[in-house]
Amino acid sequence: MKGLAGKTALVTGAGSGIGRASALRFAEEGANVVVADIDVDGGRETVELIEDAGGDAVFVEVDVSDTASVERMVEATVETYGRLDFAHNNAGILTDFVETTGISEANWDRIVDINLKGVWTCMKAELQVMERQGSGAIVNTASEAGLVGMGGLSSYSASKHGVVGLTKSVALEYAERDIRVNAIAPGPTKTNIQSGIVGDSGGSSILGRIRTVVQMAKMALWSLRAEFDTSAMQDVPMDRIADPEEMAGAVAFLCSTDASYITGVTIPVDGGQAAD
Ligand code: NAD
Repeated sequence: MKGLAGKTALVTGAGSGIGRASALRFAEEGANVVVADIDVDGGRETVELIEDAGGDAVFVEVDVSDTASVERMVEATVETYGRLDFAHNNAGILTDFVETTGISEANWDRIVDINLKGVWTCMKAELQVMERQGSGAIVNTASEAGLVGMGGLSSYSASKHGVVGLTKSVALEYAERDIRVNAIAPGPTKTNIQSGIVGDSGGSSILGRIRTVVQMAKMALWSLRAEFDTSAMQDVPMDRIADPEEMAGAVAFLCSTDASYITGVTIPVDGGQAAD
């Protein structure tokens, strides 16, 4: 991938899943990597994996829903490597399936604070460094749920639609300043996201609870399929779940000079779901 070697990449949510794969890919391409996560053990493990492969990485603990913590993360990046060329704003959480009337205000706020406000807060700090440098590329992690509605996941879907709109708007603001801003919209991917689910399953009507149980059963099936990679997912045209490395490839491309004329887009990396 052109233009990544010797540069500095910051990845949030890099202690696991898509963020870890992205951090490893940046390192493989010769970039220095700041591995940022609220999960200290996961983050340190990612750094070890990068170092074992001969790469250069540091861990920074961050809570993307906390502005001061995000500012410290970006400061630490510049203190360590002197610059910030690429940022993958990826940290996120998922809710359980529950109809809208069953969502508590606390969980709505939590989803939006981490998945949407967190991306804005990260970009706010990152863009100031990139503007001083006169260059940079940002990739935000949205979701298939940021492109189409998903019944039972309205807070998650709203937060991810927000990421898509934020990405377009910031891209327009910085287009003339050699800072590109794009997003990926992953389809179902083999990660641990379901283990960190927050939600309100108990708060729905009876019909809502039945739907929740059905959806949770579907998700359990998905994760089983993910674990054993037996595919047969009817709603993914490619008939399989993605590996996190397939997301990392799109992130690396969007940061590379091969994508030098691409800004403001959200690329579905979803086995054809968005075309269906
Ligand atoms: P994951 O749970 O494996 O990774 C998410 C990481 O984010 C974890 O390491 C977690 O500790 C970290 N994190 C959570 N809250 C944080 C916070 N407040 N501050 C800092 N770090 C925090 O899940 P993943 O699937 O790799 O998720 C990565 C992104 O991909 C998320 O934004 C998710 O919404 C998105 N996504 C995932 C899928 C999928 O099927 N796995 C599909 C579409 C979109």
